[in-house]
Amino acid sequence: MTLYADLHRHLGGSVVPRILWRYFQRQTTDLAQRFPHYPEFEEFYTRSRNTLDEYLELHTLVERVQTAKTLPYFIYRLIRGAYIFENLAYLELRYTPYLRTPEHLSQSERIKQMAQIVEIVGQASQVKDYPIVTCQILCMHSRLPYEVNKAIVDLAAEKKEYVCGIDLAGGDTHYAERLEEFVGLYKYARSLGLKTTGHLYETPQGCYPELLPYLMRIGHGIHIPLLYPELLKDVQQQQQCLEICPTTYLKTGTLEDLHQLKVVFDRCFEAGVDIAICTDNAGLHNVRLPFEYENLLTQDVIDFQQLQACQDAAFHHAFAWPHNQRPASLLTGLLQGNSSQESGKISCHAV
Ligand SMILES: [Zn+2]
Repeated sequence: MTLYADLHRHLGGSVVPRILWRYFQRQTTDLAQRFPHYPEFEEFYTRSRNTLDEYLELHTLVERVQTAKTLPYFIYRLIRGAYIFENLAYLELRYTPYLRTPEHLSQSERIKQMAQIVEIVGQASQVKDYPIVTCQILCMHSRLPYEVNKAIVDLAAEKKEYVCGIDLAGGDTHYAERLEEFVGLYKYARSLGLKTTGHLYETPQGCYPELLPYLMRIGHGIHIPLLYPELLKDVQQQQQCLEICPTTYLKTGTLEDLHQLKVVFDRCFEAGVDIAICTDNAGLHNVRLPFEYENLLTQDVIDFQQLQACQDAAFHHAFAWPHNQRPASLLTGLLQGNSSQESGKISCHAV
């Protein structure tokens, strides 16, 4: 059995449409009335959007229902699906904890409640029957104030048993007016020993070289090889890995055709830059990791050897994978009841 790692998956976009629709039906929400039949809901939920902003709006639909009370329900189903259908051995799950706290509370109350959300996600991710190594990435958000984003960094540093790194999300076109602030937050995160990734160079308007030196991995980064290939040498020297999420670019209107990614992969391979293939929003897209691989292969974007290199890169650049272990040996250990967590090699959760 082959086992995979997914380094870039949002908690908000990881709920598959049928599970979300069923949840709405059970809770008899207004959305249940709007979509009494599943096929219409799936069409609405998974269809392509014109822009990244429009696409990100859809996340708010899920964020609203992912509360302290309901998170275990969604996470259990996410872990189960990732294990059964995707053969995942390792998953980094990312989200903005502030957006899972009740909207009616004050900012300081919501900041306080973020710790509880991280605990709940951490506990719920440990599903005994589906032994995936999981870890959280906390996302700063381009639409949230500085105080909240700084609190997210502080929380990541405080909860290292659950959190393996930080990210910046919310649409990369919105960073421009607050660039210095985000540079400062990343510097601060690195000073606390945190691992870093960030949504960057996803769209042609989201290219900020100022942020690159602070990132250990680059969320998307496809416009580096597409528009600024001269930067690839630095990316290679810094050993930064691109987290490429193929279906996303079609759903956000960033690319028209998957084949446009061929030049991205070719230039990165040529420059020795690692790529991890990821799902981003496997539920929202209704495309799981093995299908991301298959789509790239069948459309001749990459060949099998390159796929293997990307799969290896995902484990190599994972923030919390025990790097001296191959996936198969970890699984054998788990099946024998010899968890890697006990041997102290995993900072997050092997269950
Ligand atoms: Zn993303």
